[in-house]
Amino acid sequence: MELLKYYTLKGKIEVLTGLHIGAGSEIIEIGGMDNPVIKHPITKEPYIPGSSLKGKIRALLEWYEGKVNDKGDVHSCDKTENAKNCHICRIFGVSASEKLEIPTRVIFRDCFLNEEWKKKIFERELELVEEKRENTINRISSVANPRSMERVPPGAIFDFELNYRIFNTKIDNENFDNGKIDEEFFSTLLTGLKLLEMDYLGGSGTRGYGKIKFIKELMLDKGDGPKDILDDFDKIKLNKNIEEKKS
Ligand SMILES: [Zn+2]
Repeated sequence: MELLKYYTLKGKIEVLTGLHIGAGSEIIEIGGMDNPVIKHPITKEPYIPGSSLKGKIRALLEWYEGKVNDKGDVHSCDKTENAKNCHICRIFGVSASEKLEIPTRVIFRDCFLNEEWKKKIFERELELVEEKRENTINRISSVANPRSMERVPPGAIFDFELNYRIFNTKIDNENFDNGKIDEEFFSTLLTGLKLLEMDYLGGSGTRGYGKIKFIKELMLDKGDGPKDILDDFDKIKLNKNIEEKKS
């Protein structure tokens, strides 16, 4: 197997409703927020980890392709032959314990706040994150139990980038595909990005958080220069039942 080239996809993600990607409880500062968002260790600015994007998009595609089992485990094919033809395993990789000969195709980069957006926020002396207070109500006493959630405010813009590796794959004893299968499978990844727009990123999505959209441009470079595919991306049709629920 030979690595032929990388595709590069770059764009901007707009946060349409507040985004909360949790930092995990182990790094809460004393006197800090109950539920802080994850921040870059040096700049202290919120960001979207590539792992969050990868995990969410993989899960959405597993649902979309009917590959979620009763236990809800992460899908992984158990044979190399199956994994080669499986969009999930081929694009996102197989679990290391399976020891299959399938290299992961996609690499999601961490997404940092867009410099122009940050400049606007600083000029207006606003903060890069906001604190949202929420209550849970005791069903019997009606006593409110307040907690605070930190979130990236609606309107925030992150720079997005992923790479996708095209391998020359053996199709039989003598022939290679010259990258054709990986090139075809790339459209599945775009479907995954589309599903993300329909769903949510981060936590508390069923309570209004985490709606995002790819905006302005989505530049795809297949090795012959970047081309804007945002119009085509916006036209991607999901299967009928899911499309109908969109409006
Ligand atoms: Zn699979």
